[in-house]
Amino acid sequence: MTLDVEKIRRDFPILSKLVYGKPLVYLDNAATSQKPRQVIQALVDYYEGYNANVHRGVHALSMESTERYEEARRKVAGFIGAPSPENLIFVRNTTEGINLAASSWGAANIGPGDEILVTEMEHHSNLVPWQRLAKAKGARMRFIPVTEEGTLDLSDLDTLLNHRTKLVAMTHMSNVLGAINPVKDIGAKAHAVGARILIDAAQSVPHMPVNVQDLDCDFLAFSSHKMLGPTGIGGLYVRSETLEKMEPFLTGGEMVLEVTYDYATWNDLPMRFEAGTPNIAGSIGLGAAVDYLESLGMEQVHRRERELTAYALDTLKELSEEFNFYGPTDLNARGAIVSFNSPDIHPHDLGTMLDQGGIAIRAGHHCAMPLIRDRLGVAATARASFYIYNTKDEVDLLKAALKDALRYFSKTLAPK
Ligand code: PMP
Repeated sequence: MTLDVEKIRRDFPILSKLVYGKPLVYLDNAATSQKPRQVIQALVDYYEGYNANVHRGVHALSMESTERYEEARRKVAGFIGAPSPENLIFVRNTTEGINLAASSWGAANIGPGDEILVTEMEHHSNLVPWQRLAKAKGARMRFIPVTEEGTLDLSDLDTLLNHRTKLVAMTHMSNVLGAINPVKDIGAKAHAVGARILIDAAQSVPHMPVNVQDLDCDFLAFSSHKMLGPTGIGGLYVRSETLEKMEPFLTGGEMVLEVTYDYATWNDLPMRFEAGTPNIAGSIGLGAAVDYLESLGMEQVHRRERELTAYALDTLKELSEEFNFYGPTDLNARGAIVSFNSPDIHPHDLGTMLDQGGIAIRAGHHCAMPLIRDRLGVAATARASFYIYNTKDEVDLLKAALKDALRYFSKTLAPK
């Protein structure tokens, strides 16, 4: 069964918007995805029908909102294959999930001389929290290098991983290169030396089947807004034996069982990690996004995006003299992200020009400054990133707009 893209597109009201009088071509999905009506409606239903605080009310609305909030947790936990909803902490986004792991687990388990292994392709979210922790604790950051092709160079992994390694924190899929990393294999090796593994799944959970038990990871973080859900909500999965020993991240209401003037005892899991009123509407909206993705099937989503990526790489190949394209050539090792750069046009100028044609791409360092600057050796790249509602026609429009830009910025280049 293939996905009916036209039917899918009709679920996304924003896709019929005109930008400067032109149909919107939205190719900035790695930054955030658009939302289907089903998700928007879930938010409206909550606010119109049963808005109330969770876990503390004895009245009907509060019981309903609590039930729907916990139902959302069950759905999202099931979506990533968590053994129990208790393993899923609702957080604001991937960034907060990783910071929670660094503060609660890292601060108690990383010490002087310990090593934290990350990759050279990390988003700042999965780099800065570990840098800060390493500095505070006298620990050392080590890096799995990136090859010219934009994959991980694992040739020194056995040296990089050693008895001092306490954590391997790595992205499942790079938001710049599109590379999908062999996190399961690296995780198995990390466990063999006694290290924990944290997976930044911001770009993988929205686009492919992800199962935390199959990956056998200790932590996995992701954001709702990149997977058709609302902003301000995301998930952090933590393996039970680790979660049970972790101290709370934030303290206050909701996360306590008993409080006196002198002390407090912590609530059950996962509420222990959800201090204060949570993003109730957001969680329910994320649950609706999970329903939507599950109705399509994540295998189908992944297959469809691979097809589109193959088409995009093939179509854009024609421009390979004018643009450098980054990321693996093996379609099994990459997701639906294409980053590129022209020596003649600054990515911001390119982005602005494409925008005039209604085409939304990203330009910049994509919150991966060390990768872009030190590894790729450029100041910025342009990035087109696809999702289930994008079409081959949109890829053609991208190519045509890039050709127009080349003509505009370099009058000497003959049109192809
Ligand atoms: N990691 C990766 C790989 C990402 O692509 C992003 C978002 N660009 C993040 C982390 C951070 O996500 P958020 O801003 O939702 O916390």
